[in-house]
Parts: sequence; structure tokens; C-alpha cells
Amino acid sequence: STEKPVTPTVSPEQVLHQVFGYETFRPLQGDIVHELVDGGNALVLMPTGGGKSLCYQIPAMVRPGTGIVISPLIALMQDQVAALNQLGVRAAFLNSSMAPEQAWQTENTLLRGELDLLYCAPERLLQPRMLELLESASLSLFAIDEAHCVSQWGHDFRSDYLGLSMLAERFPAIPRIALTATADERTRKEIAERLSLTQARHFISGFDRPNIQYRIAPKTNANTQLLDFIREEHAGDSGIVYCLSRNKVDATARLLQQKGYNALPYHAGLAAGERAENQERFLREDGVIVVATIAFGMGIDKPDVRFVAHLDLPKSLEAYYQETGRAGRDGNPSTAWMVYGLQDVIKLRQMLEASQGNDHFKRVERQKMDAMLGLCEITSCRRQALLRYFGDVLEKPCGNCDTCLTPPETWDGTEAVRKALSCVYRTGQRFGVNYVIDVLRGADNDRIRQAGHQAISTWGIGTELSATQWKSVFRQLVANGYLRADPEGYGALVLTEQCRSVLRGEATLELRKDPERKASRRTSRPG
Ligand code: ADP
Ligand code: ZN
Repeated sequence: STEKPVTPTVSPEQVLHQVFGYETFRPLQGDIVHELVDGGNALVLMPTGGGKSLCYQIPAMVRPGTGIVISPLIALMQDQVAALNQLGVRAAFLNSSMAPEQAWQTENTLLRGELDLLYCAPERLLQPRMLELLESASLSLFAIDEAHCVSQWGHDFRSDYLGLSMLAERFPAIPRIALTATADERTRKEIAERLSLTQARHFISGFDRPNIQYRIAPKTNANTQLLDFIREEHAGDSGIVYCLSRNKVDATARLLQQKGYNALPYHAGLAAGERAENQERFLREDGVIVVATIAFGMGIDKPDVRFVAHLDLPKSLEAYYQETGRAGRDGNPSTAWMVYGLQDVIKLRQMLEASQGNDHFKRVERQKMDAMLGLCEITSCRRQALLRYFGDVLEKPCGNCDTCLTPPETWDGTEAVRKALSCVYRTGQRFGVNYVIDVLRGADNDRIRQAGHQAISTWGIGTELSATQWKSVFRQLVANGYLRADPEGYGALVLTEQCRSVLRGEATLELRKDPERKASRRTSRPG
């Protein structure tokens, strides 16, 4: 059939979810996409791996007509088209290496309006015949990838790219987007001039948000930790507290209200009117704390949000970055604060395994979650790690994250880890973390006796650590992929392949030492 799989009324966010399977736009992606969908032009400077492709792919699919992508790298072109076809996107390419019949077929598909995206090498695009063809086709946009190739100042000048300056005159009504990962100011200026993008919006990232202080702490008592954090650092400030479930949103909002804060819940289960009103009050009034599920924040632009707190772990670094990024848009000091614990890790892993979606989808999600957990357990600068994930390099540790401010101590956990893994193995990989810790610490109770586990070799071999310390060990083992929580076994811990080297005694493991829990809860500020 010649039906477009995506109708013109579909939104960019829908395409993002349904076609690409991503939860949220990355930094700047959403703004760029909307600019183009609205018919504007754009110059985009984003690090490699930052996600430039979606910036033109999605508008090309949302707008009527075909998006023409100009790329100098034939091999990359073919890969991209193959990947898009896999997702069901109608994409094709034209380059000088293909057989005439094949090219002719693709041209006809274009003229029939049956393509979302057509990738084209610059020398091919500039052939007079090709330009005539484009004039009779319906086009949604021109995307000029590797746009620094147009600049003689840049490091990769290609004379073919110079010809692209005529696109603006010959196709004035078609939006243009130029993208590059490498452009100093001089190069950028030259790109803008040659491609007639001086009047266009320029989107430049660097993903660093230096005024946001990143902090991630092990969860001991989440409510107490949250109350302490707000009271000690952000009393009277506007902030957002993210929770995973609606129930937890309601309970947390109530808790904050009881403590005298102006806190409002926000989730999809509230009546539309209440939701709108709470959002409105957050925007208008000072010092409102919104407690929300991730549904909150899309399109909210409040400059003076002083803190974003996570009581549950986001699913990916994209989500973490986007949610924490709602803090401090005015550039003033702000805090991204999170607590997380073993149960969060287990819950997220279980939700993922139980979710719909094919193996490929789950593998990708698992990797994203591992990256998130990696950030939680890291002992070096969090900002460097976060930016590295987005392809952005920060030369030195930032000095404004918890691991920079108070470098976590580490300890040689090799022996403890071996004990922990052996105990999981000896108890048959059928028990949750609390049970395994009981066995390690030599507890004597009915459940252990019934299973005969007071008689196994790992019973009582772990008395040197407290239950809390063991929990920290297990959390890090799950977070780092040595153990996983069996989704069908109610959170029973299971060994993974990765354990082998440790069990064989070949690997040593440095573990993070969790900060001591405060001895007692202070009810008022000292002094
Ligand atoms: P660039 O062209 O800037 O080097 P890509 O467009 O190739 O980057 O994207 C880099 C990676 O990031 C790809 O694996 C892509 O699937 C992933 N990615 C891009 N946007 C998102 C998003 N919004 N959410 C999750 N992953 C994304
Ligand atoms: Zn740092």
C-alpha cells in the first residue's frame, strides 16, 4: 500500500516513542525538532553521539513530503537507511555508486511521495537532473549533515559542499538544518553564511550544566533523607520531587505538607483541573514543591527551580539528565539530589524483564539502566561520567558533585564479594537479599533451619560486616551486574556469567564505602 505509516497529524513525541522507542528527547533535540516542524531553519552543533540524527529524522516524518539528507559518507548512509528501514521508516539513498535502474526506482518512489527520508551524496544532489527532480517532488526539509565540510576553516573541507549554498535560493520554502559535531566559532560563522543560516536559530551544546550540583546517596530512610535535604539546603525554594508511582507521589506530598511545605502532587491519576491548577501554582507562586511522576515537566519552563529530588531511580541517563535539567535554568546554583537503594535496582530490573517488548528492546533498555546504575556507583566525578555518556568531554573533575566534594572511600571487597556470591550459590539462587544476609551473618531462625541452611559452609561466615554493610555489598553487586534479581523468582538473587572470574579468584573488586548513617535524626538545626 502507499499509505504513509505516520500521518501528518502525529506529534514528534509520538514518533519518538512509537517509531524509535525512546522515552524522552535528549538535550536540545526537542527544541530543534519543534523548530523544524514549525517550518524554521536551524544550525546544530552537538557532540558526536549526542543524537543529531533524530533532529531531522523526526521532523521529516512529521512534516508532509520527503526529507532530503545530504551526507558525505556513503557507508554511513547505507547503515542509517538500513537501520531506519528496520524501524519501518521509508528511507532510501542515492549515490554515485549505485546501478542506474536502482537509482531510477528510488527516484520514482520519491516522486510518488512514498519516502520519508532520502539520503543523498552532495555531488549527486547537485546534478542538474537531480535538482529538477527535487523541484517536482514534495519535500519536507533539507538536512545537511557534517556541515563543517562547507567551511574552508574547518578540518574537512569538501568542495562539493560549496554548491549547497544554492539550496536557500532554489528552495526558499523548504526548511534547512545543518548539523556538525566539530565547529569552533569561526567555522560555525562560515557554515551559517554559506548555507544562509545567519537568521536561523543556532542550537549549541555542550551538555554541561555547571550550576547544577549532582548528588546521589544510598537510601537509608528516604523520607527522612528528603526532609533533611530540603530543610538544610532548600527551605522556601521551588523544587520538584520525582517518584515512580502515583501512591508514592500522594504520600510524599502529604508528608511535605505536614511538615509545613507548600507541596502539591502531580500525576496522571488526578483530575485534569487539579493537575492544571497545581502546575499553574508551581509556575506562578514562589516556593512551591511539586511531587510528581515523570509525566510532570514536559514543556515546563520555570527558570528558578532550585532543586530536583529523585526518590526513585530514573530508567536511563537520558531521563536523569532531562529531569535534573529542569533545575537551575536561570544559571543560579541548584541541586540534583537522589537517593537509591538495592530495592530500586531490583524493582527496575524486574519491571524491565516483565515489560512487553522484544529481546532487542530489552537489551537496549538493560544497557541504558546499567549506565544509570554505573553513574550511581561511580567513585569518580559524576559530571564527567554523565557528559561522557553524551559524547561531551570535560577535561577535569568538576568540583561540584558529591564525589568531587567528598571523594567516597573505597575498600577491597574481594573477600566479602566471594562470600556473598558463594552464599547465593549454596542457598540455591532461590532467596532474596535479606535471607542471604541472614545466612551470611549466621542467623538461627525457623526459615533457615527448615531449609537446612544452618548446616552449609557459608552459614555464619560473614559476621565481620553488619547487615547494612552487606546490603551495600549486594547493591553494588546487582548494580554492577554480578547478580541479578530473578523476575520470576520474586527478587531471588541469581549469579551471572560475570561472577566467574571473581569466584575463581582471578579478579579483585574495589567497592564503594557508603557514608555512615547519621546516628540519630536531628529535630532542629544545631547551634
Ligand atoms: P550523532 O549523530 O550526534 O553522533 P546519533 O544520532 O547517531 O548521534 O545518536 C547517538 C546514539 O544516541 C544513537 O545510538 C541513538 O540511538 C541514541 N539516541 C539519540 N537520541 C536518543 C534519545 N532521545 N533517547 C535515547 N537514545 C537516543
Ligand atoms: Zn564532579
